[in-house]
Amino acid sequence: MKGVCVLGSTGSIGLSTLDVLRLNKEAYSVIALSANKNTERLLQQCIEFKPSYAVIPDADIAEEFRKNIELSDAADTTVLSGKASLEVITQMPQVDIVVAAIVGAAGLLPTLAAANAGKKLLLANKEALVISGDLLMSAVKHSGAVLLPLDSEHNALFQCMPSGFKAGQRAAGIRKLILTASGGPFLNNSQDELESVTIEQACAHPNWSMGRKISVDSATMMNKGLEVIEASYLFDMPADQIQVLIHPQSIIHSMVDYIDGSVLAQLGNPDMRTPIAHALAWPERHDSGVSALDFMLNNQLSFELPSYDMFPCLRLAYETLQTKGTAPSILNAANEVAVESFLAGKISFTDIPKLIEKTLTNSDVVAVDSIDTVLQADAATRKLATKYRGLF
Ligand code: NAD
Ligand code: MG
Repeated sequence: MKGVCVLGSTGSIGLSTLDVLRLNKEAYSVIALSANKNTERLLQQCIEFKPSYAVIPDADIAEEFRKNIELSDAADTTVLSGKASLEVITQMPQVDIVVAAIVGAAGLLPTLAAANAGKKLLLANKEALVISGDLLMSAVKHSGAVLLPLDSEHNALFQCMPSGFKAGQRAAGIRKLILTASGGPFLNNSQDELESVTIEQACAHPNWSMGRKISVDSATMMNKGLEVIEASYLFDMPADQIQVLIHPQSIIHSMVDYIDGSVLAQLGNPDMRTPIAHALAWPERHDSGVSALDFMLNNQLSFELPSYDMFPCLRLAYETLQTKGTAPSILNAANEVAVESFLAGKISFTDIPKLIEKTLTNSDVVAVDSIDTVLQADAATRKLATKYRGLF
């Protein structure tokens, strides 16, 4: 049995992960689960999976949760709290697999801790890789950790790589990586229509059901921008060999275009349980609960190129990937502030790229020599973006 720690078990990826674990109970033992605020859902998960540890970083929320768990059927679960508790659970010897499914920069340090501890690391938390880049990749290399992407596009690319491929290597003979994108809910709207987009509209993705932050990122296409940066680190590819292709049906999850003219693609119904099951079982395969792809129901696959005018976040992401240093960390932090501000009703949908661009233009980019440099850039950017928010 493999011991599993799920960081962010109460979110969309966390729930899909537990669905796959439930289907394959004989293969896994759940060692630790974590949540930020959704204690009701965490309690249900503890009662069902009986983990050794449940982690809630906030001490007050954890204290309340401790009282409830002691009265429940999960009384043997130990509740941990405090900032470092997430890092502690990823490094426990009984943990073989860490699923990094916290949203945003909050997942950075526990993800790095899992990489440093040499675990099998299943990465959904793309922001952690975008902001720490080479630091995370070299932690994986030095500790012998096995990094497997859960993001559907990167998981697809991984499946299209030559056998024996490891994340961080550059496979021979690749012309380019083709990241597919649904285009989000506003693909066919005009620029004017985007001005009056509501929070509900931005969170209603046509093909995937996801957390609110990534749903807004998909609507602005910043999600695809972050994924271009993510792909650059995972597959050691420069920006000009990573192409974004809009494919509204979300059936082809991404493709590798080889120099001999072969294009390898991974297809499937749009359901995160497929990449999660793939990465959990790798290098083997097991059930995910996802139905077989019906080609007769999906016999119209179309493709188009994205417009930078409609989706300036995509352009900004490519630019920061060219600049490197702390530029991707600044992009990510400015985006987190912009998305939170939009979700709080403080700025409009079309202000999101404007706030990010203004913050980027007024930030100093430096080389990344340590995690402290990245954390400083993250903190300074949040301050600056919050200040500029008042201008919109
Ligand atoms: P979500 O909002 O549904 O869940 C986020 C999880 O993180 C929750 O368990 C929450 O309790 C926890 N969390 C939030 N803030 C925290 C904090 N400050 N400290 C500790 N825990 C915290 O998000 P999601 O849609 O599951 O996405 C998670 C990650 O996976 C994101 O990085 C996202 O980009 C990536 N991802 C998601 C999908 C998807 O289909 N949902 C697909 C690809 C990649
Ligand atoms: Mg994705």
